[in-house]
Amino acid sequence: MAKKYVYLFSEGNKDMRELLGGKGANLAEMTNLGLPIPKGFTITTEACTKYYEDGEIITKDIGEEIFSTVTKLEKSTGKKLGDLNNPLLVSVRSGARASMPGMMDTILNLGLNDSVAEQIAKQNERFAYDSYRRFIQMFSDVVYEIPKSLFEEEIDKMKSEKGVKLDTELNSEDLKRLVDIFKEIYRKQKHEDFPQDPRKQLLEAVKAVFRSWNNPRAITYRRLNEIPNDWGTAVNVQEMVFGNMGEDCGTGVAFTRNPATGENKLFGEYLMNAQGEDVVAGIRTPQLIDTLREVNESAYNDFVIYANKLEKYFKDMQDLEFTIENGKLYILQTRNGKRTAEAAIRIAVELVKEGMITEKEALLRIEPKQLDQLLHPNFDAEKLKAAIPITTGLAASPRAATGKVVFTAEEAVEKHKAGEKDLILVRLETSPEDIEGMNVCNGVLTVRGGMTSHAAVVARGMGTCCVSGCGELIVNEEEKYFQDGTGKQYHEGDYISLDGSTGNVYGERIDTVDAAVTGNLATLMGWADRYRQLGVRANADNPRDAKQAYDFGAEGIGLCRTEHMFFEADRIRAMREMIVSKTTEQREKALEKLLPMQRSDFEGLYKEMKGYPVTIRLLDPPLHEFVPHEDEEIRAIAEEMGIPFEEMKNIIVGLHEFNPMMGHRGCRLAVTYPEIARMQTRAIIEAAINVSRETNPVSPEIMIPLVGEIKELQYVKNVVTEEADKIIDASDVKIKYHVGTMIEIPRAALTADEIAKEAEFFSFGTNDLTQMTFGFSRDDAGKFLRDYYNKNIYEFDPFAKIDQKGVGKLVEMATKLGRETRPDIKLGICGEHGGEPSSVDFCHRVGLTYVSCSPYRVQIARLAAAQAAINNPR
Ligand code: PEP
Ligand code: MG
Repeated sequence: MAKKYVYLFSEGNKDMRELLGGKGANLAEMTNLGLPIPKGFTITTEACTKYYEDGEIITKDIGEEIFSTVTKLEKSTGKKLGDLNNPLLVSVRSGARASMPGMMDTILNLGLNDSVAEQIAKQNERFAYDSYRRFIQMFSDVVYEIPKSLFEEEIDKMKSEKGVKLDTELNSEDLKRLVDIFKEIYRKQKHEDFPQDPRKQLLEAVKAVFRSWNNPRAITYRRLNEIPNDWGTAVNVQEMVFGNMGEDCGTGVAFTRNPATGENKLFGEYLMNAQGEDVVAGIRTPQLIDTLREVNESAYNDFVIYANKLEKYFKDMQDLEFTIENGKLYILQTRNGKRTAEAAIRIAVELVKEGMITEKEALLRIEPKQLDQLLHPNFDAEKLKAAIPITTGLAASPRAATGKVVFTAEEAVEKHKAGEKDLILVRLETSPEDIEGMNVCNGVLTVRGGMTSHAAVVARGMGTCCVSGCGELIVNEEEKYFQDGTGKQYHEGDYISLDGSTGNVYGERIDTVDAAVTGNLATLMGWADRYRQLGVRANADNPRDAKQAYDFGAEGIGLCRTEHMFFEADRIRAMREMIVSKTTEQREKALEKLLPMQRSDFEGLYKEMKGYPVTIRLLDPPLHEFVPHEDEEIRAIAEEMGIPFEEMKNIIVGLHEFNPMMGHRGCRLAVTYPEIARMQTRAIIEAAINVSRETNPVSPEIMIPLVGEIKELQYVKNVVTEEADKIIDASDVKIKYHVGTMIEIPRAALTADEIAKEAEFFSFGTNDLTQMTFGFSRDDAGKFLRDYYNKNIYEFDPFAKIDQKGVGKLVEMATKLGRETRPDIKLGICGEHGGEPSSVDFCHRVGLTYVSCSPYRVQIARLAAAQAAINNPR
């Protein structure tokens, strides 16, 4: 039997999302549930992928299937496309498997042409021409990319001629005139008349929606949200119901719970006498949903009933679209609503308390990456008290943002690339094209638009702070300034601050403080800890980071990069002296300076970790990061060491390496200069003795980096144990310590059975392991990776997400070989991948003992580890 590409809503259900897209599947489900859903059908995602495979055409067969389904729709509605007595008008809307709000295209009122409009006008002239002008504009924009601004300028011109402010103040004559003007614009741009045949309109609209899958904003959105490019979008064709037929009509969107805070209270907006796009496009500022009760009580009550029913049915917060036509309510869409991380957590925790979902389900509901939003700072409460807002808008997406004003998304992207970190995008209104710019800014401020405007929805999804609807501000995007109610101007580069939780805007910089784990997040994290099997540690090189990691729930330090302890100005000098030393004597002198610094740092780490394990890695400095380049710095070292400047310069030239990442680093350094490993061991053990004596017992883990051969590990390990045992023997505190290695060179992974004879633990250094497995430099790959994404060679950055096929195979192999030799070997990962959810999932499946990641990703890793355990019981 031939494949089916078109389904009536009555033929689908909620489990068919892959085929029908989220919108189509839910429309089908709601139809089956008997809700008031306008009738329609869905053209599948497979039809979209086929459209691309076939060279961007709709084949004859699929075209015929579409029109035979149109005939069925005509029969069930009693209306007909293009019919003068009872015309069928439809909406044509995108709907992918994953919701991508506002990223793809929609056309409303399709089926209108001159004669149908004329016929409808006999009953309701204003409505007929209002709908027709909207259709011409949308069709022209979506199908032929005729700029929207051409049409909007004409509307503005007419409004100012008539001395009115709102579209609704234009009368039917005006709208009829607009229709003629719009058709003329179309004719000028396309050199042909506006298409009058509804069947042609429909096919062109369907193709345009398919094409919108690949518009630049949709592509960017998919990249940011890791949605595969080959899914394609479905197209929903649905009988129109009209919110713009008069004052007893309207349209709106609502969430069953507050998407910013998670509060269990209906939250939404609507506009009377308006059509769908008016609410989300932010052109008119909509009314709050609660006030609908006064306007139309029965529609409001019905809506509340349906909203509750749908939330209970889908067991999650729903985002609904509705239209009221002549007083009667219709539901146009339901989907699991996008929400902030705070809201996601509150909703998940409360749904468990309400008995609607289980703890495990709650854990699976939260996208680990989203937790990142919670870790962004809040305003310093004292500083905030002292500040006076210059205006207040809608609190569209929470968090505190402070930064320098930019007026276009492109500028934001450019400035960000040039290294500027704190930026705030100020716009009259945002359009989905702005998402890349919004993504790099700390916050977004808009003059127009409600809580459900694209700016608000997209910002919430990204965790970017957003204050919208600041109608008091006057923004001059061209001259790059905005003005507050008092007339004070703020120019590009001036600091402002946004409070996305209150909607307050401040004309100054306000300092921020870090977030803490409390309330619902703490509850959720408690559940995560109950279900996860992987340990979670942090990479931390100083007591401050260690404290942060501990507070976020880290159960130890998986990697302390000791070379990072010497970045500060007064320390790097001693480190450099050690590097450029020519004699053992010189080196030992420099090491003596380093010893007390190291020892006190280690004491700080041990204390902060309160008895949890601390893994300290012996020095691994890629030389190019530490050797001085400037004459001034070289002169200072030369003087300090009593060596002539020229000689010092020669020493430094002699240290030059062509490929420092593969150079004299890691354990190679300890092989050449064992005194370095000796000094570090002394600092590690002495610090452990001191802290064990003062507070809690410490058992340090000493990690030897960049090992590729068992004998080099043996050599360095001997140096370490000799020194450590000597110190312990002479002490009254009996410290237990462990010596292990990083697995970050492919040869170490391949010979892990041998390596495990010496190593008590492995920690996978997947940064170097990725670099050396792929054979490209971790410092330079960024230069060409973008080409690889664009040419569909790689889908992601292997330094961010573990390459399970290649690098992962080495990890798996080393895990197995290591355990064969030493069944109780402790296995961790400390490359950047340790805090990335899909990599954490991989680590769980491979059977590692723990992951170690940066302190700010500890909670992400805890949640990802719980999800991995729930999805893949060991
Ligand atoms: C690694 O290579 O993965 C690692 C953790 O070490 P570094 O990033 O310091 O080279
Ligand atoms: Mg490394």
